[in-house]
Amino acid sequence: MEVFKMNAKAKVLVAGGGFAGLETAFYLRLKLKDRVDITLVSDKDHFLYKPNTIYIPFGMDPEKLKIPLTLPTKKQNMKFIQAQARGVNPESRLLETSQGDLPYDYLVLATGSRMRPEEIPGMSQYAQTIFTPDEMLKLRASLGALKERAREGKRQKLLFLVPPNNKCSGPLYEIVFMADYWLREQGVRDNVDITYSTYEKGFIQAFGPRLDGFVTDEFSRLGIDGHREYAVERITASEVVYRNGESLPYDVLVSFPPYMASTPFPGLPADDRGFIATELETRKVQGYPEIYAPGDNGDFPVKQAFMAFLQADATASHLARQILPSSENVLFHPTAMCVMEQFSKATFAKVPLRLTGDPDRPLEVPESAYADYKLGSSKPWRLGKKLLGYYLPWRFRAGKPFHAGAPWTAMEAGLKVMSSVLAS
Ligand SMILES: Cc1cc2nc3c(=O)[nH]c(=O)nc-3n(C[C@H](O)[C@H](O)[C@H](O)COP(=O)(O)OP(=O)(O)OC[C@H]3O[C@@H](n4cnc5c(N)ncnc54)[C@H](O)[C@@H]3O)c2cc1C
Repeated sequence: MEVFKMNAKAKVLVAGGGFAGLETAFYLRLKLKDRVDITLVSDKDHFLYKPNTIYIPFGMDPEKLKIPLTLPTKKQNMKFIQAQARGVNPESRLLETSQGDLPYDYLVLATGSRMRPEEIPGMSQYAQTIFTPDEMLKLRASLGALKERAREGKRQKLLFLVPPNNKCSGPLYEIVFMADYWLREQGVRDNVDITYSTYEKGFIQAFGPRLDGFVTDEFSRLGIDGHREYAVERITASEVVYRNGESLPYDVLVSFPPYMASTPFPGLPADDRGFIATELETRKVQGYPEIYAPGDNGDFPVKQAFMAFLQADATASHLARQILPSSENVLFHPTAMCVMEQFSKATFAKVPLRLTGDPDRPLEVPESAYADYKLGSSKPWRLGKKLLGYYLPWRFRAGKPFHAGAPWTAMEAGLKVMSSVLAS
């Protein structure tokens, strides 16, 4: 009886050591203290701060973006198991992993997404892609070679491509603006034609009409040739062929490929890309009250770290309330926030979103929330991006959630002041 009491703590298993997994685990520890046993299972031994991998092609050392997972888990009295999750047996409440089956009372599947370049003929062979640090290092080499050829007087064509089913186009917009600035700094921009093509109906479509207008103006100011509604059909060694009959030539092609869930969990409800069907506000898996899927591997149509945080907070809050009903009730209400790096400046957007149910345009900015749709573009926003780059690793190294406590209150207050002065 005594042993039962000692072991009666709920076992929470969190699969995935990324934004959603760590935020959920750290939030649960903060709210529930020692009322739960928390185990983190991840295939890598570190957290990767993906948003700042955009700096790798321009010189950043990828090692600077990694946080070892042993550090914060030890601090927060959590078990860390480096293993690959391979399946779930909900009847027996077991997570199947490369290190054997692990039992759970509550399971959080936060295993993120992966790319599937092979779904576009020619993409794997010919495009530079931007998902992993290794791909970013290859892009650094390609841009370096392009710069040398331009310096030798050989006119170069740098083409960007967002294909259908990419679920997070923002970073490719950052890379095009950063590349434009970098090529100017290197003194070769006049010898490089930059073209941007996307299947989207509006640039950064998911974030509404204001960002489309902003990017259109920036492209025109910088001499970047932008094309919307250019859905790729195939890629050859020298050009991209689009479904609308057009084709565009390139010397270097940079793309952010179509998305898939990183890990399929057969038996759980999911769409044809493996994204797990969830209840919007709590991220509970449909039909499985003890399983949650926050972050990229869930069915929310835009994949973003900021969204992953909001979803993780809702997950942790809902789960915490199963154990401690008086715990705070936080629901997921999608509002995207991003700071787009451009080197010369950065652009901030806060975008309230609503699901539409239309697969071609799954999100929209509701008219009733237009007053909250903010946009600001200036040098000081680069400082905002830098601050986030310090704040988040600092919190995660300590095993603390991003969105909690006095430091977040201070960050939020700072953000409010900045957006009231520097955004409208
Ligand atoms: C280049 C780039 C720039 C970006 N910039 C921004 C930005 O500026 N702002 C923004 O909000 N978002 C940005 N994003 C998107 C953001 O990084 C993702 O939306 C975010 O990482 C999703 O968090 P997640 O926890 O769901 O997945 P991840 O952060 O990918 O974490 C998934 C974790 O699960 C682990 N894992 C995977 N499979 C398994 C398995 N089978 N078993 C165990 N563990 C597994 C992985 O190793 C990883 O630790 C960017 C993405 C990229 C690629």
